[in-house]
Amino acid sequence: MEDRHGHRISYLRVSITDRCNERCAYCMPGELHEWLPREGVLTFEETWRLVSIAASLGVSKVRITGGEPLTRRDVVDLVRGVANIDGIHDLGLSTNATLLPKFARDLREAGVRSVNISLDTLDRQFYARITGRDFLPQVLDGIQSAIDAGFEQIKLNCVLMRGHNEDQFAALIEFAGERGLMLRFIELMPVTTTEVLSDENFMSILHARRAIEKEFGELIPEPGFRTNGPASYYQIPNRNQRIGFIGALTNLHFCEDCNKLRLTCDGKLRPCLGSALEFDILTPMRAGASDDELRQFFLDVVDRKPLQHDFRDNYQPNRRMIAIGG
Ligand code: SAM
Ligand code: SF4
Repeated sequence: MEDRHGHRISYLRVSITDRCNERCAYCMPGELHEWLPREGVLTFEETWRLVSIAASLGVSKVRITGGEPLTRRDVVDLVRGVANIDGIHDLGLSTNATLLPKFARDLREAGVRSVNISLDTLDRQFYARITGRDFLPQVLDGIQSAIDAGFEQIKLNCVLMRGHNEDQFAALIEFAGERGLMLRFIELMPVTTTEVLSDENFMSILHARRAIEKEFGELIPEPGFRTNGPASYYQIPNRNQRIGFIGALTNLHFCEDCNKLRLTCDGKLRPCLGSALEFDILTPMRAGASDDELRQFFLDVVDRKPLQHDFRDNYQPNRRMIAIGG
């Protein structure tokens, strides 16, 4: 699949639930979030069918996300089914890690190759304040379980929050370095405003880099190193350690090589994270659409993929990230 701007789509992010056991201030503020009714969520068979159709159109990488994907009942069976789809060669999972002590080994055996773990701080009190849950000990156990389970790659993702977690950068770098994990710093995307966070809490990746350089020396850019996304990577001098920066807001080239499409747990295809565009594929599927018709639906959505996101111009407070999957 290729859009009209030359973006070649090979990567599908699949959100399998809007439910979560945490309440991150930037993602799902407050306690009053109403979960989707169960019948509104894609069944396992529906999920597998849509991923198969995407695979037949050239998608080879899938990332399972949420909400918190590990809160979905029988998640390992769902994931194994995705791993077994012809054409899916790379299966990843994004998680807050709280439930990894229970699931890491089974997920690895089911075919998950890489795990992205959210970790904004190593300070237990701040962790509890930002996520609404005092789960840091479980998260640290979860990270160890992921290491023990032998995933090919484990990344730690830290959302930058000015005035909140800049004093944590050094500790996070040490933590990741000691364990051989890739740490990435991510700009806060303007999807919500809460009592804890506001526009003033936005910190650019440039600001973060400068703060890190004060402590560790000038970072060495690695323009040739890429993973599947828009991160830019740097070596820390005199350490065998690479860190990444994801600047959705300040990196003007952020969308250039975008290869992604998103499927929400209620069956909406989203051509872009930072655009309000979404298309309901659940309704035609449940009304009996054929595989060919669904394939055409995918192609039409990809054709509507914008040149770039409109986070900068089209601030979308109250569009909760949890409903999209990051
Ligand atoms: N629950 C899982 C987790 O926390 O990793 C997966 C879903 S979560 C929506 C996926 C990613 O989106 C996480 O790394 C989270 O930090 C990130 N995220 C959520 N809201 C965000 C925001 N407003 N700005 C930047 N990243 C955000
Ligand atoms: Fe849950 Fe992940 Fe969103 Fe935090 S970022 S509320 S863990 S879905």
